[in-house]
Amino acid sequence: VDPSGVGGWHDARVEPYGPIALDPAAGVLHYGQEIFEGMKAYRHADGSVWTFRADANAARLNRSAIRLALPQLPEELFLESLRQLVAADQEWIPSGDGESLYLRPFMIATEAFLGVRPAREVSYRVIASPAGNYFGGEVKPVDIWVSRNYARAGRGGTGAAKAGGNYASSLAAQLEAEAHGCKQVLFLDQFNDNAVEELGGMNVFFVFRDGSIVTPALSGTILEGITRSSIIQLGRDRGLEVTERKITLDEWRDGVASGEITEVFACGTAAVITPIGRLRDGDEFIGAEGAAPGELTMSIRSELLGIQTGVVEDTHGWLTRLV
Ligand code: PMP
Repeated sequence: VDPSGVGGWHDARVEPYGPIALDPAAGVLHYGQEIFEGMKAYRHADGSVWTFRADANAARLNRSAIRLALPQLPEELFLESLRQLVAADQEWIPSGDGESLYLRPFMIATEAFLGVRPAREVSYRVIASPAGNYFGGEVKPVDIWVSRNYARAGRGGTGAAKAGGNYASSLAAQLEAEAHGCKQVLFLDQFNDNAVEELGGMNVFFVFRDGSIVTPALSGTILEGITRSSIIQLGRDRGLEVTERKITLDEWRDGVASGEITEVFACGTAAVITPIGRLRDGDEFIGAEGAAPGELTMSIRSELLGIQTGVVEDTHGWLTRLV
């Protein structure tokens, strides 16, 4: 790590997958100094392999690095790491419907030092794993559990960074959700009128009766999802009004009850877009059981997935060829 905050990166190589050696006193093991990214590479019909908005992932990794006092990684090195890994492991990239190669770049503090301070030695790596079609064909709305007992991240904390610690903090809430028959957990800002933040691993969108779209504003506590920003763009391309603003749990409940809110969906790299079925708040359910996915939800979903998989034209220059 050099004093500019940009890593003096060296020793780049592709190596066989396997355990990595870490000193038992490595900073990552004790103070959670770790950040990561999640992205997918899709094989297009002509055999070429592309990833989606890699520049945005590189920029987010570097924002996370600043917050976690880790060195930044130049975008060219980030892209090169993806290219080399994917080129070395091409047989792992599936080409079936909705299938992809999930890419997980991450950076960890490897310096052995027990005092609490940023590590001066770090390691950046990328691992990859074939990923099936998230829904295995049919897209089904998922039920969401309202987390009243746990917050994910507070203001000024690390919520806007993609840092492992945020996910450690959401595990207990996820268990609680599953114990109540829900697939994902919804985090609220309990100190701000129960403003809707995000799900454990996805951002949230609301479609109103007049066709306008709302997503919670970036408050510093939620992750700036790349799928989120792409949906904002695609919505505006369609001439829809898309607003980033505070939306509270009460507005959600009342909006669904009155029919003012017609669709709710979640989005992220893994599932692209997931319709939200019911919201469960303790013993109360918001929304109807067995409702079909919303029309706009499914239409934006197929446009976005189409761009990623190369069957819809990429008019925004969002795709980067890896091999
Ligand atoms: N919020 C959280 C907490 C997440 O983990 C993710 C997944 N990275 C998202 C939102 C969605 O982000 P993206 O669209 O970049 O995958």
